[in-house]
Amino acid sequence: MSTVKSKGTVTIAVETCKGCELCIPACPPAVLTMSSTVNHLGYHYPELADGCTGCAACLLICPDFVFEVFREARSPAAGAAT
Ligand code: SF4
Ligand code: SF4
Repeated sequence: MSTVKSKGTVTIAVETCKGCELCIPACPPAVLTMSSTVNHLGYHYPELADGCTGCAACLLICPDFVFEVFREARSPAAGAAT
């Protein structure tokens, strides 16, 4: 429920994750941690904490295209189209 302002965020398609954990050390600010629960395939998946920079390292390293990266626009209220 917290709304901490950060420079980016990711969506995580948890049901396609294979639990390889490559994304965990790849994240420079270390805001990804593996879940304690598992997806429908039986794998643990990454969860995002506050502090994502939108660097896309996770997107680049993930072999299963689990991540989608978004950089935040400057205006915090909008979420509008560019
Ligand atoms: S790199 Fe991709 S498949 Fe591997 S644990 Fe992370 S999200 Fe899951
Ligand atoms: S975009 Fe960068 S900072 Fe954000 S979760 Fe992925 S690796 Fe970490």
